[in-house]
Amino acid sequence: MTRLVIAGGGFAGFWAAAAAARLRSDVPALASLEIVLISREDQLVIRPRLYEANPSQMSVPLIPRLEAIGVRFERGEISSVDVGGAKVWCAATSISYDRLVLATGSELARPSESVDGHGFDIDTLAGASALDRHLRGLTARPESEGRWTVVIVGGGFTGIELATALPERLRDLGSASAIRVVMVDIADRIGASLGDGPNAAIHNALTAAGIETRTGVTIASTDSQGVTLSSGERIVCQTLVWTTGMRASPLAAKISTRTDGLGRIAVTPELRLVGNGAGINHVFAAGDVAHAAADRDHAILQSCQHAQVTGRFAGYNAAADLAGLPFQTYRQPLYTTCLDLGHSGAVLTKGWDRTVEATGEIAKTIKRRINTQLIYPPADREAILAAASPAVMDEVMFRSRILAMTK
Ligand SMILES: Cc1cc2nc3c(=O)[nH]c(=O)nc-3n(C[C@H](O)[C@H](O)[C@H](O)COP(=O)(O)OP(=O)(O)OC[C@H]3O[C@@H](n4cnc5c(N)ncnc54)[C@H](O)[C@@H]3O)c2cc1C
Repeated sequence: MTRLVIAGGGFAGFWAAAAAARLRSDVPALASLEIVLISREDQLVIRPRLYEANPSQMSVPLIPRLEAIGVRFERGEISSVDVGGAKVWCAATSISYDRLVLATGSELARPSESVDGHGFDIDTLAGASALDRHLRGLTARPESEGRWTVVIVGGGFTGIELATALPERLRDLGSASAIRVVMVDIADRIGASLGDGPNAAIHNALTAAGIETRTGVTIASTDSQGVTLSSGERIVCQTLVWTTGMRASPLAAKISTRTDGLGRIAVTPELRLVGNGAGINHVFAAGDVAHAAADRDHAILQSCQHAQVTGRFAGYNAAADLAGLPFQTYRQPLYTTCLDLGHSGAVLTKGWDRTVEATGEIAKTIKRRINTQLIYPPADREAILAAASPAVMDEVMFRSRILAMTK
């Protein structure tokens, strides 16, 4: 019997398992292939929704879906991978593999220990739920300075979505006092990493929601009463949230020295690890942990749309390798993004330069459909396998489904 191990049960890992199971169902030579998915939780966390209220509901159970397609689930914290010995280690126990797909995703790029003593994040289900509980708990606190002040450090995609959602979330909790949301970023403007295209929509939404910004500064220190900025300004707040970007799972750097600035592992167009060491060519990587080329000029981003597609290709190729079948070359030239802007709707952009395609309510409708439908995996065997081919989930199809919603 041969065994394919998938490390990580996020978007990339789930779709890697599904693509391998689909190929197994089509190819008699793979009939005895065992597919095992190992992850620290038995839920697929819908991370793109963790800025919303009630984040504890933003996950779907993995086990019934995996059982439906004949994939075994193992709950565990992977501590290391012995690439030469073809083993994955979870504490003191190991599981051997014939092929491995590394899909352990990413985690918040935390600031240095000195300022990180305080603050929440929306990176994980546990982190976002802790913030949600804290916000609900504010209603029971006595009125005091900073009670309804939230400082968000990091003015990228996640920070903007959280900031523009917060005024309504806090009002829904019954805050009658003045709500203050302050975004802090070292760059010279909020949303700088998203380019010029959506800049006006972002700026207008922040202004309309009364969100304050502090740019060109960072956090000098934090304490239980608030933060002090590098400019010397003191902001009293009872809520501090870090949205300072994502770094690849630390397992990447344990497996390969060929990592990029985000800690992502270099992969070939087939999503196989780059390198010559023993066993390296039996390891594939997908999603936030992989530095893959989406086209000739662009590496993938740490995004759901890239994780879902690279996952399918990596799972397919890992299984195909075991059957001696040709690989499929990963390509995903079209890039679309939809940024939630709270009461101001959303902004939908097209292309790597993020040209604005829709704003306001139209874009918001699309965002809701993406967040509540498109990124959720189906529940039954036939639907999962039908959607699991690398060719099915290409960006052309994704975009045509999105653009159909603007009509
Ligand atoms: C708040 C927020 C908003 C976002 N918004 C968007 C958006 O609007 N659009 C978009 O495209 N993307 C968005 N993203 C990014 C998107 O969520 C990620 O790119 C995507 O989840 C990556 O999928 P993945 O499978 O590679 O990794 P992950 O989703 O991180 O999954 C990795 C899995 O591996 C498990 N794992 C990790 N390490 C170990 C270990 N050592 N042992 C066992 N298991 C392990 C994890 O528990 C997890 O189940 C957002 C992310 C966040 C946090």
